Amino acid sequence: MKLRDNGAVSEQNPITLDEARRPRPASAALTKTGGFLAGFTHTLQPYIGCRFGCEYCYVKALSVHQFHQPPLAWGEYVHPRTGIAEKLRKELARAQARGELDALAIFMSSATDPYQAAERRWRLSRACLEVFADYPPGLLMVQTRSPLVADDFARLARLGTRCWLSFTVETDRDEVRRALTPRCPAIAQRLETIAAARAHGLNVQVAVSPCLPYSDVETFGAQLVELAGRVVVDTYTSGDGQAGIRTARTGVAGRYAAQGWGDWRSEGAAQALYAWLSARIGARAGWSQAGFSALARSVTCVAPAQTAVVS
Ligand code: SF4
Repeated sequence: MKLRDNGAVSEQNPITLDEARRPRPASAALTKTGGFLAGFTHTLQPYIGCRFGCEYCYVKALSVHQFHQPPLAWGEYVHPRTGIAEKLRKELARAQARGELDALAIFMSSATDPYQAAERRWRLSRACLEVFADYPPGLLMVQTRSPLVADDFARLARLGTRCWLSFTVETDRDEVRRALTPRCPAIAQRLETIAAARAHGLNVQVAVSPCLPYSDVETFGAQLVELAGRVVVDTYTSGDGQAGIRTARTGVAGRYAAQGWGDWRSEGAAQALYAWLSARIGARAGWSQAGFSALARSVTCVAPAQTAVVS
């Protein structure tokens, strides 16, 4: 199957920017989860689509993009799910009435980045955090690669040990980032944000997901150990939910060939990094699905399975 990609919003494309950014009111907030995120009970997506538009993003293969109307390339649209915080408040109030709040492990977000630029205008992720302050779940994991999350450090800190910030840093080489995910924040900005989050007292996990070509094990590994409370390392083959089949449908293979980065399917460099980290920080280093779900399983005691996580 070839992934649908119907072109960018432009003067030649009759679809307007307004349509590509139009709000889509949320009919519900929490979605029950499974697969790769089996340790978590729910996901929460404040937006539909993601303007970071990463080449390797597996969401391109999911129905949320394949059946998106109007047809647009991945990365060209983002719809704020307006009213999501109000829906979340009702759903968490019901969970509290049933005595189930402590058993909830929520992943925000698996199919969008909750702190992409649209958040600056809509503040839906922030509104959800305000609701979580009133109804704290057993675990909230906020997954992002955006320095914009710093605006909400104080709101994350209010949740104490119930909240982890999971921050994506796939490589320490910014030229790799520019070649594969040019719209994403620079690596240096991300490292600064992580350091600031730790200084703020937040629990921070670094997601090396997917692990991209990096400098060398000791340089990157030492940086990660110094920065984060936990580190999860993942690859296209272990982490895309279909042993690399989803990634094979993207432009990743062509980019690797053009850059001379070798076989994109190889897990050797990622495994070397994981082994180096494990030798130094033990169980605070995680691999792929088990690594992502480890904290959640301590809340929900759900056994692991397979699909994928992004952002
Ligand atoms: S990988 Fe994450 S940040 Fe990149 S496009 Fe997909 S959802 Fe957005």
